[in-house]
Order: sequence, then structure tokens, then C-alpha cells
Amino acid sequence: ADGAGVVALVIGTGYGGCVAALRLAQAGVDVHMVEMGMSWDTPGPDGKIFANTTTPDQRSFWLRTRTKQPLSNFLGFPIDKAIPRCTGILDAEEFSGITVYQGRGVGGGSLVNGGMAVTPRREHFSDVLSSVNADEMYNVYYPRANAELGVGLIDPAWFDTTACYQYARVGRKHAQRSGFPFVFVPTVYDWNYMKQEAAGTVPKSALAGEILYGNNYGKKSLQKTYLPKIKATGRVTISPLHKVTSVAPAAGGGYAVTIDQINTTGDTLTTKTVTAAKVFFAAGSVGTSKLLVKLRSTGVLPNLNNEVGKGWGDNGNVMCGRANHLWDPTGPLQSSIPTAGIDNWASGGAFAEVAPLPTGIETYASFYLSITKNPNRAEFSWNAAAGKVDLSWQTAWKQTSITAAKTIFDKINAKEGTIYRTDLFGVYKIWGDHLTYHPLGGAVLNKATDNYGRLHGYAGLYVIDGALIPGNTSVNPFVTITALAERNIEKIIATDL
Ligand code: FAD
Repeated sequence: ADGAGVVALVIGTGYGGCVAALRLAQAGVDVHMVEMGMSWDTPGPDGKIFANTTTPDQRSFWLRTRTKQPLSNFLGFPIDKAIPRCTGILDAEEFSGITVYQGRGVGGGSLVNGGMAVTPRREHFSDVLSSVNADEMYNVYYPRANAELGVGLIDPAWFDTTACYQYARVGRKHAQRSGFPFVFVPTVYDWNYMKQEAAGTVPKSALAGEILYGNNYGKKSLQKTYLPKIKATGRVTISPLHKVTSVAPAAGGGYAVTIDQINTTGDTLTTKTVTAAKVFFAAGSVGTSKLLVKLRSTGVLPNLNNEVGKGWGDNGNVMCGRANHLWDPTGPLQSSIPTAGIDNWASGGAFAEVAPLPTGIETYASFYLSITKNPNRAEFSWNAAAGKVDLSWQTAWKQTSITAAKTIFDKINAKEGTIYRTDLFGVYKIWGDHLTYHPLGGAVLNKATDNYGRLHGYAGLYVIDGALIPGNTSVNPFVTITALAERNIEKIIATDL
């Protein structure tokens, strides 16, 4: 609807965007959601909506001609391959010091992520969001987020016996033999569905290695939780393959939002302008930060303050593998949904998830994604010469994360008489230190915005996604992003509408 006016425009359809849209619509506000990725509701030629990790295709990556898999090598061989360029689901966005993986499509990161749905330990919350009332979060907003997202725990008895979590049981055994606290990690996977997958009575999803490029069946992404509720309100329009490029104060009040409609090879078909009374930035930590930094630096929103672009962190993500003894196989069938963790946060600054290597063959490897206490923070800045936004993160800053992860794995290796795998991230490279799955910050709460996400300098502009969180959540971030969005939108609806 070119030129038409809307009340609230939401940029992005991930966790923050879905919370904003649902609650605004329920309060009687008409909402337009704009999403640069595809809608992911139509099966491809193989009858499935999403591609498998073992056979990536044009659905798998955002505008790349070659896959860029997080694990680039296996047994010394590079595993990336050529694919047709398409607006696929996983963006491996490259900055000079880090590759930031993000979901693209209606549902944002919920489409691609591992589904690990973790609430931070309460004693760590003041390190995560120091200006937010912890009582309110733990009494109201975390429970609300967990309920809406459908978070649940694996049945421990099934965990103990099923073949598909042998890899996690090996991880537990090694953690416990070295004296580390082992925890079950809650997830948004439908556990009854996974049991049926194991029994062979339904089409397989987690047990077919589906992850990173979407899950066809059992994972409760936003497509199965917030989005159906949003559609049921009848007040929300969603425009996929539409990318917001500018938000400018409009002459008659409100904001003029410039939007490129793109095709599946990423070319712009038309450019539209929509006027909105209120605009919610929910393009993810990177998407929101890039837009705001560009708009401030190019004079479109000059009153945004100097905190915009600052406080970005990688949630301390670092990956590694360990080589097990031949008498400690991790199993050829590995559920793609991790559900086990080693919690050494308090004494070593690392929370390590036992992750799958869903190759379909015995690998004799234990693989881990660690979330670590890494205090380094980067800044986004406008590169006028190149016409793009840069990020100041340096790969060397991951050394803090490696040191923290080693508090767990050096000890386990010593106890088990094992070594690190050196073939997963290149030739003779132990640490996956070049990437993050958990970008956070860039428009930090109570700095770039007030304590509820209202951007300083412009009434009616809000940030409501991972950009608000200052770089680290001590665990996987989407439950915290969702809970904070629920808290903020409740206040905004009560006072700003
Ligand atoms: P997002 O979910 O990133 O949504 C932003 C949306 O905005 C995207 O759909 C994007 O396409 C769109 N967008 C961006 N720019 C524009 C624009 N200019 N115009 C229009 N649309 C735009 N977290 C966990 O808690 N547990 C996990 O197990 C987990 N596993 C992960 C695994 C992978 C591979 C990845 C990539 C992430 C994982 N995460 C996990 C992280 C989690 O998915 C993110 O933290 C979360 O999705 C961020 O939510 P958000 O609302 O901030 O933004």
C-alpha cells in the first residue's frame, strides 16, 4: 500500500517484532510488519519447506553462491559447496573480525536456531540487564515468555535410554567425572513429537538432522507460537521480501518509512514509502544497529544519541570439539536439538552446551557451543566511503572466551585422557572463534533508549529486540529477548498510545 498510513510499523518478524505486533494488535492497534526474508510457508520441489543440513541448497543461505557452514571442515576436508544465490534462510553476515549468523524470514532467528530456551540464573540477572527490575522479570515476564514460546524439558527417563541423545549422555558422563555441574537445557521442541520420530511413526525433523536451515516438523518456532496469534487478531499485515532502508520524520507528524521490495535473487523490484505514527525497530541486534547508525550518521535522524551503535557483544560464543576414545562412541543418530549443558559460569565464566554433530555416521567426537563471560564490546560505525556500516569486533577478543571454555575442556581432556579435535574449523584449528550465533546490543536499554526501549531524541521510535541487551545474557538469548519485549511493550501500550 504505497503512500498509505499505518499506526504502528514493525521492522522485522523475530522475537521482539512478534511480541510487539501481537500485543499492539490485541490492544486494538493496526500493525504492519515488514520482513526482508521470505515467508517460509511453501514447500520446495522436494515437498519440504526447509532444507536439511546434509544437503544444503538455495533455501539454505541468504544471497550466497557458496555455503558458509559454521563447521567448515571435517576430517581435513572443506565441506562447503556451491549453491544458487537466493534469499535463503540463514545469513552468514561477514564483518572484518566476525561472521554473525542470523535467521532471515517471517519468524527471524526462530526459524534457524537450536531451540534452546534458557532463562538466566537469577543471581546473574543484574549482570545481564542492570536497570531492569528482576522481581518483575522473574515473576511476570520470564514466565509469560516461557509459556508463549512453549518451553519444555526433556523427559529425563527418555533421555537416559534414547539412541539419539547418546552424544549428550557421553557429554554428561564426562562433565560429571570431572566434577562439573550438569544441567538439562529447556527447549521449544515438541518432545512428544521427537519420541514419535524415534519410534518411526511420524516424518523426522530433529532426528533427520534438521537445524540451521529450518525444522520442518517438531520445533515450535514463532511460526507455531506468536505468529498464528498475530494472524488471528486480524489487525496485522505482514510483508515478506520487503527491506526497510530509511525511517525519517514525516512532514505531517509520524515517520516516513522507505521500503525496498526485493525478489528472491535480492534485486529491488520497487521502492515504497509508508507513513507510520510509531515505528518499532525489531530487525535484530545487527539489523537494528545498522539502520540506526546509518540514519544518525547520514543526518536522517541526527538527534539519536552517541550510545546508538555501542555496546555490541557476541554472547561469548566459542565452539570446539573433543576426540573421544573408541570405547566412547557418541552414536550415528544425533538429535539436532541440544538439551544438555555444563554449567561452569560461576567459577570459570563458561556455560557449555553439548551440541550434536548430525552427520549420520559415528564421529567419535563431542562437540560443544560455549557461552562465555567475554567483556569485550564492539561498536558499529558508518563507513561513508563504502556506504555501509562496519563493526569494530576483533577476532583476537575471543581469547577471553577460549580461556573460559578451557576451564571446562582442559580439565575433561586431562581426566579422560583425550584431546581436542583439530579438523572442524579448518586444518589444525581447535577453536571456532570466528563466529557468533548470538549478536546482542548496539542500541542498549537505558543508554540509547530509555528504560523501556524508547529511542532518545525521537518520540514514537522504539527498539524492541536483541539490540537492547548489552552483549551477554550468560545463556542462550531468545527467552530474555522475548521477556524483555513483553515487559517493554506492556509499558509502551499503557503510557504511549
Ligand atoms: P531476529 O530474530 O534476528 O529477527 C530480526 C528479523 O528482522 C529477521 O527476520 C530479519 O530478516 C529482519 N530484518 C533485518 N533487517 C531488516 C530490514 N532492514 N528490513 C526488514 N526486515 C529486516 N538463541 C537461543 O536462545 N537459543 C538457541 O538455541 C539459539 N540457537 C541459534 C542458532 C543459530 C544458528 C542462530 C543464527 C541463532 C541462534 N540463537 C539461539 C539466537 C536467536 O535466534 C536470536 O538471539 C534471536 O532470534 C534474536 O531475536 P531478535 O528479535 O532480536 O531478532
